Amino acid sequence: MAFNWLDNFHHDMEKAPNYAEKALAAYRLGMRSGGSIVGVRVEFGPCCVEAAASLQYEKGAIYHPDDAPQLPLADCRLGERCQSVYRPVMAYEVSPEKAAQLKAHAQEREAERKAALRKKRRDSKNS
Ligand SMILES: [Zn+2]
Repeated sequence: MAFNWLDNFHHDMEKAPNYAEKALAAYRLGMRSGGSIVGVRVEFGPCCVEAAASLQYEKGAIYHPDDAPQLPLADCRLGERCQSVYRPVMAYEVSPEKAAQLKAHAQEREAERKAALRKKRRDSKNS
């Protein structure tokens, strides 16, 4: 699968301070290019199980990259050696209805992002 290299990469390395940012950006790009990725899931390592439970993260929940919990969780007992990883959720893993719903949500997010960018450009021009 195309994302295997990314999975291995995640597991083998200590988390850089920008791990979450980089991984989520990669998934965001994947989603934007119209591929079969429809969201991300967090696979909590043993280091984060308690922290995740106290934050009431739902097991197996699917997030848009913009909404995903930041890894490592603040209360992870391993800190930057956290073993939790993001996993892509592919369209074929969920029902067609769920996939359509996730894609629609992603498109809304994308539209919001573009609108915010346009506004930012306008504001900087006017200042
Ligand atoms: Zn952890």
